Amino acid sequence: MAESLSTDVLILGGGVAGLWLNARLRQQGFATLLVEKASLGGEQSVKSQGIIHGGAKYALHGALTGASEAIADMPRRWREALAGNGELDLRGVRLLSDAHYLWSPGTLAGNLTSFFASKAVRGRVDQVKGDALPPALQHPKFKGKVYRLAELVLDVPSLITRLAELAGDSLLAGREVAPLREDGQLVGLVIDGRAVRAQRIVLSAGAGNQALLEALGLSQPAMQRRPLHMVMVKAPSLKPLYAHCLGGGPKPRITVTSHPAADGQWVWYLGGDLAEADGVARNEAEQIAAAEQELRQLLPWIDLSTAQWATLRVDRAEPAQSGLVRPDNAFLAEQDRLLVGWPTKLALAPDFADRVLAVFERDGVRPSANPPLPALPRPTVAQPAWEELLG
Ligand code: FAD
Repeated sequence: MAESLSTDVLILGGGVAGLWLNARLRQQGFATLLVEKASLGGEQSVKSQGIIHGGAKYALHGALTGASEAIADMPRRWREALAGNGELDLRGVRLLSDAHYLWSPGTLAGNLTSFFASKAVRGRVDQVKGDALPPALQHPKFKGKVYRLAELVLDVPSLITRLAELAGDSLLAGREVAPLREDGQLVGLVIDGRAVRAQRIVLSAGAGNQALLEALGLSQPAMQRRPLHMVMVKAPSLKPLYAHCLGGGPKPRITVTSHPAADGQWVWYLGGDLAEADGVARNEAEQIAAAEQELRQLLPWIDLSTAQWATLRVDRAEPAQSGLVRPDNAFLAEQDRLLVGWPTKLALAPDFADRVLAVFERDGVRPSANPPLPALPRPTVAQPAWEELLG
């Protein structure tokens, strides 16, 4: 068996939640070890659209919801971190867009009265016109209204790379996890045959939390998966667009984000209602046809004749909710030394870390003396899916 290790906090899962938490804990002097079984960010985080929501989307229902309130402070916290004066130093992370937009084709704006009346968006939404429009919408044929939201969009691969830097030597590539018990108490985990003792263990493994809980003989907290069928399109004619396009319903008809491919072209990544229930039921060819039809209808001037298309199936992992309702905040459950959670959104990674730190504060968990870590096998950062699928 490899040499055993001890640390203050053992974190399982190197997506945005685990990496953000790890960086905050290290900053506060905690010894940490973060175990990643595949690639850093490779499950949901690098497949996300990178929008740092402030809750405006959820105010589309017209009613103020818990989500709109809890998430409202996230853009400010992320902006400060990106500027180097926030809770983490994220200078160097690529900001793809300083704003996200709401785009209402045709006459739908009339339905937005209650949206603009809601507290979640009041004073934080401005209509934009002319050359203030997102480049992809600057066309004489464009009809409709566009509103600038005080939200931002990040290049997630560069975020994960930065968080991995902030992790220093605390990362371990490891696959097999078993409980380490003493006198019937969980005191750590055995990772690929190596015993790791810790004051606290945090499971932040996204969809992997369920299997980890099972390996520890636990069935709670229960998890749900929300399947999505996303679409990617790459074409020389595409210009950057970061927008929720409104349909009649409470959810955006389509959410477009734009990502730089290694060959210099833009990839549009399409989510929103398109990627949900009906989209999940479609096969890849049907889903591409549906996406192409949406784009041709909404943006008929864009030349898609040489476009490359692909789809990506990915599940969101969240705490179980009745009726697959979207949870409002980061979620954290506790059981003795074990903490388990899901941020439920990339944007809410800071909230997830806050919740863990609040538990440590309450329980008097403090940094302690630990021997330095030996050189450990280090996980790599995930590549964006479009490089693989549209490369
Ligand atoms: P993950 O990113 O899934 O990371 C979990 C990690 O744990 C993985 O790296 C995995 O390999 C690892 N792991 C699993 N099992 C084990 C194990 N046994 N041992 C060790 N490691 C393990 N949110 C937003 O705020 N804005 C958006 O625009 C947005 N867009 C999205 C678009 C899509 C298509 C999807 C799917 C999600 C989107 N989200 C968005 C949600 C967001 O991506 C997730 O809430 C967030 O990334 C979850 O982070 P995480 O660290 O909990 O999980």
